[in-house]
Amino acid sequence: TAPQLAVRNLSVSFRLKTGQALQALTDVSFTVQAGETLGIVGESGCGKSTLARAILQLVTPTQGTVEWQGKALNPHDRVAMKAYRRAVQCIFQDPLDALNPRMTVSDILQEPLFALRSELGKAAIRQRAADLLQAVGLAAEMGNRYPHEFSGGQCQRIGIARALSVEPQLIVCDEPVSALDVSIQGQIVKLLADLQRGHDLTLLFISHDLSVVKSLSNRVLVLYLGRIMEIADTASLYAEPLHPYTRMLLAAIPLSDPQQERTRLANIVVGAGELPSPLNPPAGCVFHTRCPQVQPVCRTQVPVCREVMGRQVACHLVKDVN
Ligand code: SF4
Ligand code: MG
Repeated sequence: TAPQLAVRNLSVSFRLKTGQALQALTDVSFTVQAGETLGIVGESGCGKSTLARAILQLVTPTQGTVEWQGKALNPHDRVAMKAYRRAVQCIFQDPLDALNPRMTVSDILQEPLFALRSELGKAAIRQRAADLLQAVGLAAEMGNRYPHEFSGGQCQRIGIARALSVEPQLIVCDEPVSALDVSIQGQIVKLLADLQRGHDLTLLFISHDLSVVKSLSNRVLVLYLGRIMEIADTASLYAEPLHPYTRMLLAAIPLSDPQQERTRLANIVVGAGELPSPLNPPAGCVFHTRCPQVQPVCRTQVPVCREVMGRQVACHLVKDVN
């Protein structure tokens, strides 16, 4: 059967005010199965949010397609687009920013239901808003309050409730915990994991932090300067990262054991360098200016993302052992 979501050869470029073209994504392809959680990681500016926005149909790709349940999305097919907008919801980084400050929380939760499920009727929609608050760990009475009366973590719970309101099949979470205190991050990740299981949801979980996606994801996709570096199941990726960039990201995660942490800091690649400007990405392998294993071929030839040991890796040095 067709994957629930397929992104095929997707490229997105923007024309900046200065006239320069910014290539935000280049030839990105991957599939997602129903009920799966795919972590999408990379440093800021690597195209994660553009990818989220392209999947949500908020930006138009320069090339490539997004397929839903085996069919390419067609912006001119209004019936299909309405169904897609209901099936695919999103949660963003800044929860307070995403909530209308002049609406009560109950009204915020009712709004998408009136837009997409008006047949339910007023009373049922009101009740559903109260139920949603409880589903995300808030009291139903809190619906009468305004967003500014809530903490960051509570606002993200409201954002999650709003995403759930229309019973989506897939939720795109763009850095949903990055703006929250570390102590709150775990609670929100746990809530998302519980809801994912309870509602049989597919999650795309975007983060710059590999340690955040680990507990939640079935597979992880690593992006660098708008290109896929590696896609692998979570256990293999963390146990044996194949791409030099994945290894660099993993080496950047602090360890809780002080002895291990000292060893980690001692072994960190010195001079790994800054992220190049996405306006002027390096030729050949985009990672070659920071890669500890760079070879002459890397400076001129773009490595093709290919299947190696059951995963996908874009690196000239990674060879299939078979
Ligand atoms: Fe490093 Fe070359 Fe592999 Fe790129 S292709 S990650 S520069 S070894
Ligand atoms: Mg972003």
